[in-house]
Amino acid sequence: MKGEPSINTNNFTAVQLMELDACVRCGECVNWCPTYDAANKDPGLAPRDKILRWKKFMDKSYGLRARLFGPKAIPEEEIEQFKDDVYGCTTCAMCATVCEVGINTVELWESMRANLVKRGNGPFGKQSMFVKLIGEYMNPYMADNKDRLNWITEDIKIADKAEILYFGGCTAELREAKLALATARVLNKLGIEFTMLGEDECCCCSALVRTGQYEIEDIARKAARSNVDGIVAKGAKTVVYACAGCFRASLVDWPRLLGEELPFKVVHITEFLEGLIKEGKIEWEKPFDNLTVTYHDPCHLGRHVGVFQPPRSVLNSIPGLNLKEMDRIKENQRCCGAGGGVKAGIPDLALKVAETRVQDALAKNPDILSSACPFCRRNLSDGRDSLGADELVVEDVIVLTAEALGIDLED
Ligand code: SF4
Ligand code: SF4
Repeated sequence: MKGEPSINTNNFTAVQLMELDACVRCGECVNWCPTYDAANKDPGLAPRDKILRWKKFMDKSYGLRARLFGPKAIPEEEIEQFKDDVYGCTTCAMCATVCEVGINTVELWESMRANLVKRGNGPFGKQSMFVKLIGEYMNPYMADNKDRLNWITEDIKIADKAEILYFGGCTAELREAKLALATARVLNKLGIEFTMLGEDECCCCSALVRTGQYEIEDIARKAARSNVDGIVAKGAKTVVYACAGCFRASLVDWPRLLGEELPFKVVHITEFLEGLIKEGKIEWEKPFDNLTVTYHDPCHLGRHVGVFQPPRSVLNSIPGLNLKEMDRIKENQRCCGAGGGVKAGIPDLALKVAETRVQDALAKNPDILSSACPFCRRNLSDGRDSLGADELVVEDVIVLTAEALGIDLED
């Protein structure tokens, strides 16, 4: 009797199975992969080789020979090694951007991860805690969800219901509170009435989707449902995000998880501010003292959903800030190293990629390295610290915006 294939096709679409065959082995993706580079060109991390290895797994399980004589067993250690390698990826989408034949590699990595999670191999290391933590605490930081509100000072006005809702996100509210504070105070200062989900806000579940754990215990779908219903109950028509990961998850992952369109518009805070700048509704009160700033595109805001110009428009409009671009920007930007569960699962690799990105910035000798994502800011700050580049300020665009509006973030 023929045995069961070692690897099955769970979580792959028909298009993705064809994409495995479409790779022409040109190696362009390998030239640009930041984790392959940071891991001393470890061949296991090369995107092309992951596609070819998985295709080999599929051939052994379903190819012509398998159909005639039964599937050929794949040694467990080979599958385990593949699992380690496919998680050494920040899902930065650089390989997808340069792929000669247009393979959506990021979604392939995510499908491979989900397949391996179901098989009992994935995820990697501490990433397995995400399901339990988000299921139990509604955030991945094991914080009492009421602590989300700790950054809110008495002066901040948050309406009970409003047409605009600020979705704070776990990392900003629980780890990068200055960013949440800056966002709320900027909205207040500009006279924008907004509401928040507060302690009812649940993790956006980006970490679960990126690490292939989106089906486990249905946590990701339940979280998306709870957030969407909560946002609707608050009367919001537009949801504003200052976190690139939450923004991408809401725009792309929530509709997929729920199988429905979102009943509200989602925008990144820099898009929102760019609109106000164009309408002449922002008056800068406190110009910077002729400082040079460079901007790092978060993968989840840039390559994943195409928001490149709005953060630059905001920085360009702030008086006294001179934007000097790094060599690799926009579609070609180099990842900060934190995404795809790498910061939690393989922190050494995350740090090495961050160091390289900080070096990209240092080559332009700026005063400030800015970004538009709390996760990027954290990892770039770690990279700056490990390089000992103490003179470089790493700060979010919204914090720079707050400062130029004359908002004090220290009290
Ligand atoms: S998504 Fe980024 S890190 Fe992952 S394989 Fe592609 S280029 Fe490398
Ligand atoms: S760029 Fe695309 S076609 Fe070329 S090796 Fe990479 S995945 Fe294959």
